[in-house]
Amino acid sequence: MNEKSPASSMDWDDLIDAVRPYLDTLIDTQRTPSTRPVFTDDEAFHESSQAPGPVPEVSTPLPDLLDEIVSSVLARGYLNGAHPRYFGYFHPRPLPVTVLGDSIASLLNQSPAAWRMGPAATSMEVQTLAWLADFIGYPGAAGSALPPGIFTSGGTIANISALKLARDAVLGEEVRENGISGGSLRGTVYASAESHYSLSRAMDMLGMGRRSLRLVPTDPTGRILVEALTDRIRDDLRNGHRPVAIVGMAGATATGAIDPLAELAEISAEYGMWFHVDGAAAVVFADFQRTRAEFAGLAMADSITLDPHKWLFLSYGLGCLLVRDPNRLSSSFSDQAHYWSHDSRTDFVHLGPEGARPWKSLGLWLALRHLGRDGYESLLMGNLDMAQYLAERVRAADCLELFADPALPICCFRALPPNSDVDINAYNTALHSAVIERGDVHLTICHPNGEAYLRVAINNYTTRREHVDALIESVLRARATLG
Ligand SMILES: *Cc1c(COP(=O)(O)O)cnc(C)c1O
Repeated sequence: MNEKSPASSMDWDDLIDAVRPYLDTLIDTQRTPSTRPVFTDDEAFHESSQAPGPVPEVSTPLPDLLDEIVSSVLARGYLNGAHPRYFGYFHPRPLPVTVLGDSIASLLNQSPAAWRMGPAATSMEVQTLAWLADFIGYPGAAGSALPPGIFTSGGTIANISALKLARDAVLGEEVRENGISGGSLRGTVYASAESHYSLSRAMDMLGMGRRSLRLVPTDPTGRILVEALTDRIRDDLRNGHRPVAIVGMAGATATGAIDPLAELAEISAEYGMWFHVDGAAAVVFADFQRTRAEFAGLAMADSITLDPHKWLFLSYGLGCLLVRDPNRLSSSFSDQAHYWSHDSRTDFVHLGPEGARPWKSLGLWLALRHLGRDGYESLLMGNLDMAQYLAERVRAADCLELFADPALPICCFRALPPNSDVDINAYNTALHSAVIERGDVHLTICHPNGEAYLRVAINNYTTRREHVDALIESVLRARATLG
């Protein structure tokens, strides 16, 4: 039993003593992730989440709690995203400096929500946003007195915010007051069938309705069909709708497809629409020599979603929306409250949907300073090399078929069944389960154009050829067992 008074739980010296024996074990999760399985999922967690117990009445000593975290979480219910053979959803291996940033930010508990809640934090967050815009070659807001965007908790909130800016800009700011229920405003938004589900959530939350999101078919490589898009816009105009925005994908979640952004920008301009680019995962590749050409037209975007917690290698909790005209942020998100005095300096609460926020961008500030653009370039191009190597291996195997040449470190492929009367989609679904079951690599499955493909994202800066080889071996061996 704990002999200490509750006050000792608030003692930093006790905390440091308690944590010291666990520090190496905890840091080793990131330092040597290959020593742990890629994924564990003990049924016991499912059972306990079905029947959560009451709140603890009495104190438990810290060493016991740390012991429980190590023996339970790490041992039995752990997605080891840092493992170089983890190829699943975007789940980066966090850079050490970004974890340091998170720890310092939590310790100092500054919030960039408002200048007076953290003057240095707010100022450094503005700087970090400007660096991000520069990182991807998006000079849009340069010269504005307002910051060039906002940080959010992730890409979903960034996309919702972007469509709110679009709604207010195109339908008129009175929708902020009167809502959209009047019925006369039938605003429509257009994106490819490969776009992220957060767009229909945004339509729902903004009162525009999920059905007003038009999902436009794609070509065989997952890019939006421009002609189908313009046909749909013209149809909608004829039927009394008001086209509000086009969302271009700069790296679709499943396939990595990049839409023809320059063409989408032109169409948006022609019809007086907002042009948003969803580059949550991959727009960080936009301004490097090897990948730049694919992103032509990005500079014309009205807004861009970018998730530092994907390919900038931060742990979860940091998304971002960059905008060409920051005044749109304040006209869409400013609010009044008698207990909240206005400040002439930056108050992010009046520029975005969230209130008090953690200073999560400190990790990114540190990483951009510590690695520089060059440091990031070598990590990102290393990931691209691995995706291209994987594509080579797939092409070399007679029984495997590539979805498309990877322009980004996302690569989809499928296995061909031994004889043609086997349903290829069911076959690849079974193959995927068999690979996951083996447990030595982890990857996901997706269904572009309705067909099943294994999906590999290389979002770990320590994934090397040997790990890609292991992935191919694992798929081939699983295929052999399927017969
Ligand atoms: C991941 C992703 C999102 C959503 O981002 P979260 O950070 O998960 O909220 C949106 N769009 C694309 C293209 C994505 O890949």
